[in-house]
Amino acid sequence: MPKYVYDFTEGNKDLKDLLGGKGANLAEMTNLGLPVPPGFTITAEACRHYLRHGGTPDGLEGEIGEHLAVLEARIGKRLGQADDPLLVSVRSGAKFSMPGMMETVLDIGLNDDSVLGLAKQSGNDRFAWDSYRRLIQMFGKTVLGIDGELFEDAMDELKGERDDTDLDAADLQRVVETFKGIVRERAGRDFPADPREQMDLAVRAVFDSWNAPRAVLYRRQERIPADLGTAVNVVAMVFGNMGPDSGTGVAFTRDPGSGRQGVYGDYLRNAQGEDVVAGIRNTVPLQELETINPGAYRELLDIMATLERHYRDLCDIEFTIERGKLWMLQTRVGKRTAAAAFCMATQLVDEGLIDMDEAVTRVTGDQLAQLMFPRFAATAGNRRLTTGMNASPGAAAGRAVFSSERAVELAARGEAVILVRRETNPDDLAGMIAAHGVLTSRGGKTSHAAVVARGMGKTCVCGAEELEVDPHARRFTAPGGVVVDEGDVISIDGGTGAVYLGEVPVTASPVAKYFEGEPAEDELVRAVDRIMRHADSARRLAVRANADTPEDAARARRYGAEGIGLCRTEHMFLGERRRLVEDLILATTPEARQAALDALEPLQTGDFTGIFTAMRGLPVTIRLIDPPLHEFLPDLTDLAVKVALAGDRAGARPGVRTRDGADERDRRLLDAVKRLHEQNPMLGLRGVRLGLTIPGLFAMQVRAIAAAARRVEGARAEIMMPLVGAVQELEIVRDEAERILAEAGVAAAIGTMIEVPRAALTAGQIAEAAEFFSFGTNDLTQMTWGFSRDDVESAFFGAYLDLGVFGVSPFESIDREGVGRLMRTAVEEGRRTRPGLKLGICGEHGGDPDSVHFCHEIGLDYVSCSPFRIPVARLEAGRAALACARSGTGC
Ligand code: PEP
Ligand code: MG
Repeated sequence: MPKYVYDFTEGNKDLKDLLGGKGANLAEMTNLGLPVPPGFTITAEACRHYLRHGGTPDGLEGEIGEHLAVLEARIGKRLGQADDPLLVSVRSGAKFSMPGMMETVLDIGLNDDSVLGLAKQSGNDRFAWDSYRRLIQMFGKTVLGIDGELFEDAMDELKGERDDTDLDAADLQRVVETFKGIVRERAGRDFPADPREQMDLAVRAVFDSWNAPRAVLYRRQERIPADLGTAVNVVAMVFGNMGPDSGTGVAFTRDPGSGRQGVYGDYLRNAQGEDVVAGIRNTVPLQELETINPGAYRELLDIMATLERHYRDLCDIEFTIERGKLWMLQTRVGKRTAAAAFCMATQLVDEGLIDMDEAVTRVTGDQLAQLMFPRFAATAGNRRLTTGMNASPGAAAGRAVFSSERAVELAARGEAVILVRRETNPDDLAGMIAAHGVLTSRGGKTSHAAVVARGMGKTCVCGAEELEVDPHARRFTAPGGVVVDEGDVISIDGGTGAVYLGEVPVTASPVAKYFEGEPAEDELVRAVDRIMRHADSARRLAVRANADTPEDAARARRYGAEGIGLCRTEHMFLGERRRLVEDLILATTPEARQAALDALEPLQTGDFTGIFTAMRGLPVTIRLIDPPLHEFLPDLTDLAVKVALAGDRAGARPGVRTRDGADERDRRLLDAVKRLHEQNPMLGLRGVRLGLTIPGLFAMQVRAIAAAARRVEGARAEIMMPLVGAVQELEIVRDEAERILAEAGVAAAIGTMIEVPRAALTAGQIAEAAEFFSFGTNDLTQMTWGFSRDDVESAFFGAYLDLGVFGVSPFESIDREGVGRLMRTAVEEGRRTRPGLKLGICGEHGGDPDSVHFCHEIGLDYVSCSPFRIPVARLEAGRAALACARSGTGC
């Protein structure tokens, strides 16, 4: 039978899975000989059993009894003993800190008899009755589920104008009676007088609090697994509320905001810990303890130094002073700001406490990303209109504009603009480039707006569904009927998804400037520089960029990209060139088609020349055109209306050529739009399927790549086929590409995306014809789950997250079990066929920290992500390599 209860003398800091963070650290401090009140921990395993089976495991009660007996023997008092009671606290404590999310009950062991014993022993009636009323209040609320306000209201009524501390013992005795009445009335039972019953019920209440709505929400936010459960600590009570020589406080061993050493904390005299957290009375700076109790203060500073040396990190602590004697109630490695994390990691290296490997593991890619984006200085003065999805971080303010053209126009005049659309499409690209930020009312985190904005490092809030966007009237309406017209200033926060009315001031980030090439001057930037250098030296994964313009390519290079992993060529067919694509679609003879392709080829050659030049010497993976062609045609409804109107104008004689010929062309376009219309375009005629059905299209692109490669010295082209599902598809387009390359005398590797599940499952065959694979995890996730990547996030992912189907969107972080399994299969089978097969990823996941770790673990050669995520990917790739080396698993 498993052991469910550990005395503090039996545990240690490495047993967090079992004892939770609080229990493991109380044990560690006990072992260090620090003054910790004695106690024991009931394991998270017991909680998991309780939550699974609806009851405590066999033997738990007996085990608790044995440990309680040991505790009683050590202190020389029994729980709730009438003349001199031992009192205990029952505290939650999960593996990951979930501050304030779960329950705690203090002063267990008090009843009508033992309150008198406590009063006598302490010589302090007031204290004893105050403790008793606290117990009934906490117990009533936490264990019996009574609305806490009932107790607070009753207390307020008794207090009248007085402060808590003005109540005397007789007052508090009356409070106790009133509270007992509330319990009887609301819970339909008496407050339990039996101390052991109090304790057992409190333990169950803590177990139950694991699934309290706020705890569930917090876990989801922090990506804490839902099935860990919490441990429960039963600790002998020490009292900070025994008079002026008692008190309670919290402290950090360093400043959690900057990492600097010093004394940081708060102290509250004559109070219990909960009073500090609840902010009931004003605390004093910890330094004042030096005058209040110099001995305890010195001891506390010594202990803090010991803890920091021992944990080799910033610790936060909770302590209580009972009649002048210091007790440590909790310690843990403290939370910190992103800036402090970087500064502190390098400070600890300089102090000789950790090495650089360790420093790299002490910071995260998410923290680095936070440091890179501009942010709002303060939002207090601005009205929040709504909150959408935080699609691309940063902060931006500007005039609302409702079309790409208007965005370009105003930006050209030097105005800051926010492009507001229902959803964006490739035609909005120019407007997105011109805008400071993008706001849409539809679409999820992999919608066009989100992907493109992230790629540009532009702030984006998408799927703000409460906004009614009317592009024709050039306005949107927010909840409450607030109307924002074109030209009105709004501000959007890509970190939180908030949309504000008016201008919120934005500040730029020195870390972003550093990545742009500015020297590392302040402490934070120097720390980032040191950590990045070390991460780069540790990582095995190469980091490439998803970029399709020379500007993005150049930025990616500044940010440390070692090549381009995905150059999406479809972005090159927009704007003025759209007409050439239309010509291609409208061509009815081979000659007309060739003429259209011949017109596109030099333009493509120019595109590739620009990118090869920016990336000279580094590999550039160019993906041949992917999306369905009708995406390049006008909207069906718009066009149908236009043709109908033109027909009317021509005297109800449709088909008659107007003088400029527009009518005729529009009619043919309308026919093409209808012909090409698909119910499921994402599963339709796109990717390699286009290459196989439109003769000459891929060939034109390959010729352009070859011509550009010949022009640019040091060009290293790789050609990638999209949406391949069968090796036969790849073989056909590959043969043609090889012929063209050979004729041009250009060498280029030819490979494929792995983004259709069938490609992953037949990777062994596909590797016969591919020199590299790049996992397109956007489509692979879409097709593995059967989730439309453009729709589902805003449609029902909220419900799925609530229901715990997954803890994080699979479009954000790789679903290791499903999509990840396909990737593993493809890696293994691909390399079995072709040992030197180069493997990468270019879906959005390439810049997601957890996904980068997964890519390292399965042995990919590189990750490719948007330019602004490159520093994050470099850091996480370093962290992944160090974590694998440490784990000794050889991954
Ligand atoms: C993908 O599917 O992951 C991918 C990179 O291709 P795209 O997003 O262009 O479909
Ligand atoms: Mg794709």
